[in-house]
Amino acid sequence: MPATGFWIRRIQWPMMELIKENRTRHYMAELQRAQSLQTNALVESQRKKLGKLLDHATRRVPAYTEFASEWETQRDQPERFLQRLPILRKSHFRQNADQYLAQHANPAKLIGNRTGGSTGEPTRFYLDRLAVERYEAARWLGLSWHGIQIGDPCVMIWGSPLELNQQQERRYRWKERWLKNRLILSAYELDREQLPTYLRLIQRFQPVYLYGYASALHSFAEMMLERGLSLGIRLKAVVSTAESLHAHQRQTIESAFEAPVINEYGARDGGMIAYQCPSGQMHIFSENCYLEVVDPLTVMPRLRYQLGDMIALSPQSCDCGINFPVLEKIDGREDDMFISTHGKIVHGHYFNHIIRGMDSFRTFQIVQHEPSRLSLKLVKDPDSYLPADESRLLAGIQAALGEVNVQVAYVDHIPPSASGKVRYAIRECPLTTAPRME
Ligand SMILES: [Zn+2]
Repeated sequence: MPATGFWIRRIQWPMMELIKENRTRHYMAELQRAQSLQTNALVESQRKKLGKLLDHATRRVPAYTEFASEWETQRDQPERFLQRLPILRKSHFRQNADQYLAQHANPAKLIGNRTGGSTGEPTRFYLDRLAVERYEAARWLGLSWHGIQIGDPCVMIWGSPLELNQQQERRYRWKERWLKNRLILSAYELDREQLPTYLRLIQRFQPVYLYGYASALHSFAEMMLERGLSLGIRLKAVVSTAESLHAHQRQTIESAFEAPVINEYGARDGGMIAYQCPSGQMHIFSENCYLEVVDPLTVMPRLRYQLGDMIALSPQSCDCGINFPVLEKIDGREDDMFISTHGKIVHGHYFNHIIRGMDSFRTFQIVQHEPSRLSLKLVKDPDSYLPADESRLLAGIQAALGEVNVQVAYVDHIPPSASGKVRYAIRECPLTTAPRME
């Protein structure tokens, strides 16, 4: 809706800046200036920021204060000092999260969050507004490389928050629609029956771009191609996020939506890390993250925090005019799609979504061996375990997949797969069932 976009840009954002002191556009302008700096200047700027972060962490963050005197002697070499710090694993962080909270942090200003984590281990942490606004700024900058502006209409193929009552749900949708100009279509209900409805909703909304999980966009695109359907709207881009985007998925999405696919690389607990430019390279927001150290986080600095993705840096530069360094390869975020006994496709995030709302389980792994036969491994959190959560979880699984048989096992640990990542949602049977008569 173009008029809504105009209103958002001209009235709503300036008001948010005035009344709520929102700084997103300010940070975006900062990043925009940085992107055309020469490599030396970028490295220098990043070194300064890293130094500041280390100052802050060693002074105020209990987990790092023991390194304070060592840091004092190595202040001119922040990169080298960083290597001295232990790698921070999620499991360690989860058990000692309090140690990572800055001492001056005002509890009223903490923004609680938790990862769904494509590694299947929900982790709780805090952000502050500075961090949130910087992440947002990086995303808007990445989108601006493709001609997309703040407030442009967007259709998201996304998981809607569970456990909202009807009124909360309506409020959420209203806010998305009128304050963000976004229409959210559930990635969990995406199937052949819903396809025509989804297409109609998209056509009526007239988005400038689509945004969604790689696998959900891909199955949407496959269904369209299967039936020879098209959107009939000129999109500027389709933005794929939250998972690895494979070359064959990109191809299918591009041909179904007749628009370029942009890969966004971020993590709920790592911020916006990189964005694809019009020349097809992934540029790292080096002003917001340092190779392995991520974040402009101030309330909860996690140095050398291991996100669990495998990435490779590229020595190449890019000809697009953006000088942020280039990321060569991102590997490891895999979320399988599941199939219900009625032939519906259910995104692996769905299970994650349910579990994230419960404190009973530290992590889980669900495997679909056959459409109606699954196994579920659960790791209990002994401090907050409620037996009723198991039946709630099973009810949630059956609501999505139908009358399936789920073998539940409680385990102490879920070993990672060969890639090094713990996969929480694995499908072993083919996704396609025989086409039904319609
Ligand atoms: Zn580029």
